[in-house]
Amino acid sequence: MSEPVEKPQIKAVYVKSYGCQMNVYDSQRMADVMGAEGYREVATPEEADLILLNTCHIRERAAEKVYSELGRMRVIKEEAKAAGRKVMVGVAGCVAQAEGEEIVKRAKVVDLVVGPQSYHRLPALIARAAVRPGVVDTEFPVEDKFRALPAATEARTRSRGLTAFVTVQEGCDKFCTFCVVPYTRGAEVSRPVAQVLGEVGKLADAGVREVTLLGQNVNAYHGMGPDGSEWTLARLLRRLAEVPGIARLRYTTSHPREMTDDLVAAHRDLPQLMPYLHLPVQSGSSAVLKRMNRKHSRDDYFRLVDRIRAARPDIALSSDFIVGFPGETDADFADTLDLVRRVGFAAAYTFSYSSRPGTPGAEMDGHLDEGLKTARLHELQALVAAQQQAFQQSLVGRTVDVLFEKAGRKPGQVVGRSPYLSPVQVIGSSSLIGSILPVRITGAKTNSLDGELAETSHIPEVHAAE
Ligand code: SAM
Ligand code: SF4
Repeated sequence: MSEPVEKPQIKAVYVKSYGCQMNVYDSQRMADVMGAEGYREVATPEEADLILLNTCHIRERAAEKVYSELGRMRVIKEEAKAAGRKVMVGVAGCVAQAEGEEIVKRAKVVDLVVGPQSYHRLPALIARAAVRPGVVDTEFPVEDKFRALPAATEARTRSRGLTAFVTVQEGCDKFCTFCVVPYTRGAEVSRPVAQVLGEVGKLADAGVREVTLLGQNVNAYHGMGPDGSEWTLARLLRRLAEVPGIARLRYTTSHPREMTDDLVAAHRDLPQLMPYLHLPVQSGSSAVLKRMNRKHSRDDYFRLVDRIRAARPDIALSSDFIVGFPGETDADFADTLDLVRRVGFAAAYTFSYSSRPGTPGAEMDGHLDEGLKTARLHELQALVAAQQQAFQQSLVGRTVDVLFEKAGRKPGQVVGRSPYLSPVQVIGSSSLIGSILPVRITGAKTNSLDGELAETSHIPEVHAAE
C-alpha cells in the first residue's frame, strides 16, 4: 500500500489598497503575480501568510495611515507566530518608493519593501526576505514590468466582476508644485497598443463589459502602435471600442492640457465612451494655478469645458480641488467657488493642501494655517455637495442605460451603474447581471439612484454629431 500523500499547503495572500485606482489595479496585479506562485487571495490579513500594503503618499495623512496599519499587522504577525505560523509583511506602492529603507528601520514588522515599478519581482524578493527580512527594492528597472507580469487567470478575472481597470500609462512629467507623483512614479511611460489590446481582449473573454483605462495623466498616452507610430489615447479608444464584448469605456485621470481635439471628438463619435469625465482643475484662480505649475489658466479651463460640451452635450464632469495652497488669498478662493458655480460638476474631490517634503510647494512662502484651510474646505464641500445632489436629482424621470453588476443588499434587488457612474438599484432578477438595459430613474439619494426597468425602449442620448 502506498504512503498517503500529504497535500502541499496552499498559501494565502492579502493585499490592501490605499489611494487611487491605479493602486487598485496594481494590487490586483500583485495578487496575480502571487497567484502564479500558487497563492490564493484572501479578504482578511488574519487568514494570510503574506500581507501586502499597497500604499499612497499623496497627502501626509495617507502616508501616516500606513504606519498605524503596520502596528495592527505586528499584532497579527505575533499571534500567527504564537500559533506556529509564519507571516510575512510587505509594503508596496508610493510610500515604499518614497521612504524605502526608512520603513524597515521604523517598522520592524516589515519583511520587504517594494516600489510600484518592481512588484513583478515579488516572488524573488519574498524568497530573499524569507532568509533575511528587510529587503528593499525601489528601483525603476529597465525591463518592462507589464511584460513580466503574468496575466490574471480567467477565474480570477471573473471573480472580480464585469468592470475592470487597465493601466495604460504611468508616471508624470508635469511637476505640479504640490505633487509627489513625478517623484514616486517616475517619468511618463505608455504601454504599447498591442499589450493593452491583449489585456482588454482577455478581460472581454472573461466576461468584462466595461473597461476604465488608467494613468496618472492618461490623456498624455502615446503608446507604440502595431504600425510603429505613436498612438494617442483617442486612437486607442477607437480601437478598443471595436473589441467584441466591451460595451463601455472610460479613462482617468486627465490633465486639462492634454485634452486634444481628437480626444474631444472621440467623446462625440464613440457611443462606448461614457459621458462622464474626470478633469481635475485644482483651483479657480489663475494666479494659484500658475504657482501650482498647472500650465493652464481658469479661462483655458472654461474654454475646454465649452469644447467638450459642444462635442457631447450630455457629458457630466467631475474634478479635483486643492484649497489652501501657499499664498491662496480670499479672492483666489472666491475664484474657485465661482469656477465651480460656472462649470457645474456632477461630483468633485476636495482636498486641503498637504505640504509634501521634496516638492516646490513645500518651500514656498505663505503657508496657510490649518483652521483657515479647513474653513475653506468646508465651504467648497458644501457647494460641491449641493451640485452633486442637483445632478442626481436631474436624472429623476429620465431613462438611462444601466450595466447590471451584482445582486443588491435587499432581496430581489439588482444593482448596476449609470453612464455617470452612480449606482442604480432596481427590483429585478439576478439574471439581469451582465446586461445593459434602459432604466427609468424614480428617485435620487446622495450617492445612488432608484429606478425601474423601462418597458418601452428609450430614446438614446443625443450625440452632437448625429
Ligand atoms: N494627475 C492628476 C491631475 O493632474 O490632476 C492627479 C493625480 S493625484 C494622485 C490626485 C489628486 O490629489 C490631485 O488631483 C490633487 O487634487 C490631490 N493632491 C495631490 N497632491 C496634493 C497635496 N500635496 N495636497 C492636497 N491634495 C493633493
Ligand atoms: Fe501630480 Fe500634476 Fe502630475 Fe497630476 S499632473 S500627477 S497633479 S504632478
